[in-house]
Amino acid sequence: MPGTPLLMTFPVTATSHLLSEFRARGGYAALEKALTTMQPGDVTKEVTASGILGHGGAAFPVGRKWAVIKVADGQPHYLCANADEGEPGTFKDRWVLENNPHLLIESMLISSYALGVRNAFVYMRGEFDLPYRRLQAAIEEAYDAGYLGRKLYGTEHATDIVIIRGAGSYVCGEASGLLTSIEGKKGYPRNRPPRLTVKGLYQRPTVVNNVETLSNVAGIIRMGAEAFRKVGTAKSPGTQLVSISGHVVKPGVYEIEHGYPLSKFIYEDCGGMLGGRKLKGLIPGGISAKVLTGDDCKDLTYDHGSFDKAGSALGSGGMIAIAEGTCMVRLLQVMLRFWHHESCGQCTPCREGMGWMHRIIDRIVSGQGRMADIDQLIAISDANDGTTVCGMGDAAGYATVGFIAKFRDEFEYFIQHKRSKYGGVLEVGAAEVAHA
Ligand code: SF4
Repeated sequence: MPGTPLLMTFPVTATSHLLSEFRARGGYAALEKALTTMQPGDVTKEVTASGILGHGGAAFPVGRKWAVIKVADGQPHYLCANADEGEPGTFKDRWVLENNPHLLIESMLISSYALGVRNAFVYMRGEFDLPYRRLQAAIEEAYDAGYLGRKLYGTEHATDIVIIRGAGSYVCGEASGLLTSIEGKKGYPRNRPPRLTVKGLYQRPTVVNNVETLSNVAGIIRMGAEAFRKVGTAKSPGTQLVSISGHVVKPGVYEIEHGYPLSKFIYEDCGGMLGGRKLKGLIPGGISAKVLTGDDCKDLTYDHGSFDKAGSALGSGGMIAIAEGTCMVRLLQVMLRFWHHESCGQCTPCREGMGWMHRIIDRIVSGQGRMADIDQLIAISDANDGTTVCGMGDAAGYATVGFIAKFRDEFEYFIQHKRSKYGGVLEVGAAEVAHA
């Protein structure tokens, strides 16, 4: 484990989705502490003092989001855990849902107490099967044990948690699209303002936090904000669950303490690159985060400040390691196909722009590209910037511009020679995985 674990229990094989074992590890003690010794406002203050940032991609300070909710305003408030983990390369929330679902439930109960929430939701991507079954079973155990649906520890506070399953749309992972989907409508993202904490689900104040973000709440209450802040860095307290895929010897989910050296993580914890190849590029936090070159990564530490300075972002924690020998033009083609397919079609620059970009990259890969195509991709990306309802249009544009800025020579080579610099297929693949 690279650093101090907060969410994973080590060894990982000792974690369990069962209530009995979660309680044996001290589970639900933080819930009792919050409800018996703290007022709802104290819980929010503690979360704010912890400095925790959202782990879903935007890294918004959690306490600032929560502080908008006026607990005593007489309105219903809602809490929604975003488990619609659809960002390519990201599969760390899935780990929590499968292996530590009671941690999420306990954290949601504490959060609901702080936010005056009676009805909480988990919005889960429809493709998740085991995560759904594990979480549903854990919710049933929590009902049977009296944690859910009943007033707790002599307070008036009771919470129900319901899982809502998505139907395979990437954009329903965007917080407002997710709420629109829960309302039974087409999952279109909404224009803001108003913020969701003012008018969210059913036009009521709503907090949407990512699964991993919420799962930290029990730990913050159990250990206290001061101790939590001692893990990680001053600007990025705590840890991050990182799902790493691509060309490393040991892909998987790791918990990294913020500030941990990136090279150490890749070359020691993940066993290095397949076949001993060089790290050519790294997508650090889901495909919406700008790609970095291997050289960019040399002295980076795993924290927001370090990645921001390098011109990218920690994003969703979904890291994709790319070995020398990979064709970056084809990789961008796969990404643009995905964004074009997933555009909800609500905004013209995204709906049309993604289609244009997808067709242009297809033209380049088919050997029909023109040199002007490269700048055309940049121009369409720039036209998306700030002109769309949700961040998908922007993010796809930033990522495309990043690929061209770092690997422009490969795009030019492809157009000039009507083929990839690296031949017909990705050269690092299954055979090397088999031998790793
Ligand atoms: Fe839909 Fe794209 Fe507009 Fe987002 S940016 S709302 S995905 S059309």
